[in-house]
Amino acid sequence: MKVNLISDTVTKPSKEMLEAMIAAKVGDDVFKEDPSVNKLEKEVAALFGMEAALFFPSGTMTNQTAIKIHTQPGDELICDHYAHVYNYEGGGVSFNSGVSCRLISGNRGRITAAQIKDVINPPDFYHSPKTTLVCLENTTNKGGGAVYDFDEIIAIKELCDKHNLALHLDGARLWNALEVTKETPIDFGRVFDTISVCLSKGLGCPVGSLLLGSKQHIREAIRYRKIFGGGMRQVGYLAAAGTYAINHQLKDLKEDHRKAKELEGVLQMRNYVQNVEPVTTNILIFSLIEGVSETKFIKDLNKRGIDIISLGKAKLRIVTHRDYTQDHHDYVLTTLIKMNEYA
Ligand SMILES: *Cc1c(COP(=O)(O)O)cnc(C)c1O
Repeated sequence: MKVNLISDTVTKPSKEMLEAMIAAKVGDDVFKEDPSVNKLEKEVAALFGMEAALFFPSGTMTNQTAIKIHTQPGDELICDHYAHVYNYEGGGVSFNSGVSCRLISGNRGRITAAQIKDVINPPDFYHSPKTTLVCLENTTNKGGGAVYDFDEIIAIKELCDKHNLALHLDGARLWNALEVTKETPIDFGRVFDTISVCLSKGLGCPVGSLLLGSKQHIREAIRYRKIFGGGMRQVGYLAAAGTYAINHQLKDLKEDHRKAKELEGVLQMRNYVQNVEPVTTNILIFSLIEGVSETKFIKDLNKRGIDIISLGKAKLRIVTHRDYTQDHHDYVLTTLIKMNEYA
């Protein structure tokens, strides 16, 4: 059996999704004439109660565009030290926007209003960079799929308003957060100036991300998307995959969460495991006891047909997703239990 647990980006379109893609009506989206893209943008904007949305080829590009909109070169943004915008976007914050990151050591990728307040540079002190933007991530990736407490988000929003800071949400996995919190997309749409969401994480779409914001923000975003090389032509085939996923597959995320939770339970009981971070969504981060080599453990799992990755610093990561079937799951649980050489 081959089981891929390295990321939820490995999911592939289902037969039904492929059919929706083939049937899509398309046009030239650079001229805003692709009906399937226009439909998806309208639907997702409405879902979040935001004025407008824009389709992008990647989540990196939506985040980078949002940062570009909210900042000027020389500015500073505030984010957690685990943030995707800081760690995994190739240094785009400085490359694209000439902006530096003020990092906070939060709790599994989540930062608080009090922590942010401490690091806002005084606006009239021209020796330090001007703080103009706060970026949150929900769920957190490197933080192991942790979910923000909405009250904290509200407190952060109030702080941002008071200090005239923009607030962006990297919501690559906001769908997973929405599955486990009582808040709705509208609640998130009310709080953030811009939100990025991904369609290619756990939803089966080949690519795709959307940036949500005001009409004014999205007008600016179209220009930056063009500059970043993200203007696409008959891309409605991909947008149709996104529309299909949002209407039919969001509900399945709770299955991914259930499986991650069960893996947590089994890993907690293994004597070769040092620590398992609490699982709330579809990401599981764990570490092995001293003396057990991660490289060897990953290799041994791989020999048994199971792929997982290391995050460095002794952390291993498992991500469940819609193409990780119940059969796969049963096999992985049994295999983890049977890894006797590690006992
Ligand atoms: C995956 C991801 C992104 C976007 O990544 P792309 O690979 O460019 O789509 C952004 N933020 C987080 C937290 C992610 O996990």
